[in-house]
Amino acid sequence: MFIKDHGFIILGITCIYCAKCKLIITNQSELESYLVSLFEKINPNIIGNEYFVVGTMDLKEWKKRINNDEKRSLEQEVEFISDFKGLLELNYQPAGWYRNV
Ligand SMILES: [Zn+2]
Repeated sequence: MFIKDHGFIILGITCIYCAKCKLIITNQSELESYLVSLFEKINPNIIGNEYFVVGTMDLKEWKKRINNDEKRSLEQEVEFISDFKGLLELNYQPAGWYRNV
């Protein structure tokens, strides 16, 4: 993820994958509350800044990273990231009875 005025960060969050649609789905408000709780501690000035989710990181490489098995530069980390091919905004309507308007 790239955050304006902060730079590149790699988050350890998991998302829903729909194999049928080939979509990785995350809840924007959950993602943003995660970011707020993270940046309250490390850099509160950037809370609310624009951000861009670049892609996903290979789980095996992510685990190596958090276990600190090998020190890697940002350029090396980028090799384990798969870019998203596109971005869709999904909304949902809770189940229930709706009047035709
Ligand atoms: Zn689907």
